[in-house]
Amino acid sequence: MKLDVNALRYLSKDDFRVLTAVEMGMRNHEIVPAELVDRIAGLKHGGTYKVLKNLLKHKLVHHDSSKYDGFRLTYLGYDFLAIKTLVNRGVFSAVGRQIGVGKESDIFEVATEDGTVLVMKLHRLGRVSFRAVKSKRDYLSHRSSYNWLYLSRLAALKEFAFMKALGEHEFPVPTAIDCNRHCVVMSLIQGYPLVQVKQLQNPDDVFETIIGLIVRLAEHGLIHCDFNEFNIMIDDNEKITMIDFPQMVSVSHRNAKMYFDRDIECVFKFFRKRFNLSYEEEREHDEGLVCDSGEDGGRLCFSSIEKSAGFLDKELAASGFTTKDQDDIQKYIEGEKEDGGEDDAEDEDEDDDEDGDDEDDAAAEEEDDDGPIGVQISSLKIADQPEESATSNIADEKEPLVPENEEDCADVSGDSEDNENDDELAKRLDKERKRAIAAVRGRRKLITSRNSYKDKGRKSSLNSKVQRQALKW
Ligand code: ADP
Ligand code: MG
Repeated sequence: MKLDVNALRYLSKDDFRVLTAVEMGMRNHEIVPAELVDRIAGLKHGGTYKVLKNLLKHKLVHHDSSKYDGFRLTYLGYDFLAIKTLVNRGVFSAVGRQIGVGKESDIFEVATEDGTVLVMKLHRLGRVSFRAVKSKRDYLSHRSSYNWLYLSRLAALKEFAFMKALGEHEFPVPTAIDCNRHCVVMSLIQGYPLVQVKQLQNPDDVFETIIGLIVRLAEHGLIHCDFNEFNIMIDDNEKITMIDFPQMVSVSHRNAKMYFDRDIECVFKFFRKRFNLSYEEEREHDEGLVCDSGEDGGRLCFSSIEKSAGFLDKELAASGFTTKDQDDIQKYIEGEKEDGGEDDAEDEDEDDDEDGDDEDDAAAEEEDDDGPIGVQISSLKIADQPEESATSNIADEKEPLVPENEEDCADVSGDSEDNENDDELAKRLDKERKRAIAAVRGRRKLITSRNSYKDKGRKSSLNSKVQRQALKW
């Protein structure tokens, strides 16, 4: 979905007033009756309808007359409300190019008044994950409706709360700066996703750091659940930063061990394939942290890590992320994982008819969804500040989050012949786990064999300057 913030220049106070009225109406309506929009907006007679036409033209609202004459916000409309609020707060004043795109997010550079470049992540739940959500129908069936914008807001709130709490505990994460609606603003990480990096000076150190982070997270009561080469950033000094937290779960989750093992496995697989990392032949067993028999089969042992569940609860609550939000999300993640969490781009444009309410799927029928790739370079400089939105909440109801792992345990090489060696691989991985945890604990040295060719990521993606045009609206 394109984000053309130039249109912001053309929107008047009344436009935002009506846009906000639609948002407020969506607390109780999937499709907000036109009359209700009019009543909430309180413009003089006929004014609201004229404004709605303009909002429709800019694709900020969607018109639906299947049951009655009504409107709902589009993601673009929601983007504008969030951006305007954050600009009014002085968080940033210009929007630059798109630097990342996930299955369910768009990431842009933004700039503050003094030129500092930050990152804005817009959550877009429902963009791709329709099948996954359909599979949740049982869970959702007690609800008369659900709302993608609300779910995206919850994802953003969770991400912001975790980023902030983790930062306060000195985990290497971007600095959490602000959050509004489905939008999180954070510091820009000068680096590359690990997946882009072909060579490392010290792959063994990087590997140890990463495994150590997973262990430390567990010690703090958390499991990332999507800890792979796409969500690990690395800079020229091979410093690691982890990103992307909406799917994190607590170590008290009943499937915690499985998620923990999966995170560990992703890292092992990636380092083995990309950096040809191998280990000394097995020696004695590592004290304590490695289970050498039984169901753990020699793996880094989740149960032996001293965990303190609830450790971050206070910080999370301070960020406005309630226990109830957390429960809702975890409940949903649970269902998601059990269903395999499959998704399919084909589902993207499908209506979720089986829910019995065509208007539920706000994002799926996003009219402007012509692909996330087209990088839009636009800027805005806001001089005139229309009225602050009356609300930042789309819905009163608490609903479950839709978690999506973008590339679970991504197999970078994609080599089919690897499958033939599954058993051997499993054995090696088990050995490697033992070595790795020992290395993490500083007890043993890893041995690496390095690739001979090198190409350290693609710098270009992070080196650009945000273009600023000082446009007024
Ligand atoms: P998703 O949840 O859609 O996977 P991510 O948070 O993983 O989104 O971000 C997607 C991509 O955007 C990342 O792989 C990275 O390239 C880029 N990105 C995200 N956050 C930052 C940041 N703070 N600094 C620099 N790049 C970032
Ligand atoms: Mg990601």
